Amino acid sequence: MANIFTVSKLGYQIDGIEILKNIDFTIEEGEYVTISGPSGSGKSTFLRLLATLLTPTSGEIIFEGKQQNDIPKETYRREVSYCFQQPSLFGTTVQDNLAFPFEIRNQNFDEQKAELALESVDLKSTFLHKNITELSGGEKQRVALIRNLLFTPRVLLLDEVTTGLDADTKEIVHKLIENLNQKKDVTILAITHDESEISLAHRLVTIKDGRMAGVTQ
Ligand code: ADP
Ligand code: MG
Repeated sequence: MANIFTVSKLGYQIDGIEILKNIDFTIEEGEYVTISGPSGSGKSTFLRLLATLLTPTSGEIIFEGKQQNDIPKETYRREVSYCFQQPSLFGTTVQDNLAFPFEIRNQNFDEQKAELALESVDLKSTFLHKNITELSGGEKQRVALIRNLLFTPRVLLLDEVTTGLDADTKEIVHKLIENLNQKKDVTILAITHDESEISLAHRLVTIKDGRMAGVTQ
C-alpha cells in the first residue's frame, strides 16, 4: 500500500532550540500508529507539523505524493484532522461547535447527524443545546473529538485525547477510533501515555529528545 505520509529529515527549531531533529517517518494509508515518549520530547510538535499548525524549519512532509506546502491549507485540514491535547471549544453552545464543520463546507447544519455523533460518544442528544461552560473536561474532550469526525477525515491526529476520561468513556472512544480505522480506513496517529493503549498499539514509535525511535510490536 502507498504511504499517505512520507516525512524526511524533518526538523523544527524555535529561538535557536531544536525541538525536533532529523525525523524520518512513513505511514501507510489505513495504518494506526501510536506515539509515546516523555513529556516535552516533541510529540505534540510533530503532530502540529503534520497538521500544518506549525511550519517545518527543515526537511519535508509529503502527503499523498505532494509537498504539504503545495496543498491549500483549507483543503489539507479537511483531510488531516488534528485533535488538540487541551480541547478548545468556541462560541456558546455545543451546537456552535458542531455546526462549524458544516459552515466551512457551505452546508446546512444537519441536526440529526450531530445528535448521532453525540450519542456515538455516549453523550445525550440534548447536549446540543448545552452551554459549553456546563461541560466537564471529559465531555468537552468528546465534543471536540466528534467535531473532527462529523465529516470523516483521511487522517486523524490524536493528541492525548483519552487523558482525563474515566475507564468506561475511554473504552467508548477507543471503539470509535478503532472502528474509524477498521471500517472507514482512516489513518490514525495517536499520542498517548496510557499503558493499556500502548500495549494495544498496532505499531508503536517513541519520540525522545526530539528524535524518533521506531519500536515495532
Ligand atoms: P510533548 O508533546 O512531547 O510533551 P511538545 O512538542 O509539546 O512536547 O514540546 C517539546 C518541547 O518544545 C518542550 O520542551 C516545549 O517546552 C518546547 N516548545 C513547544 N512549543 C514551544 C514554543 N512555541 N516556544 C518555545 N518552546 C516550545
Ligand atoms: Mg504534548
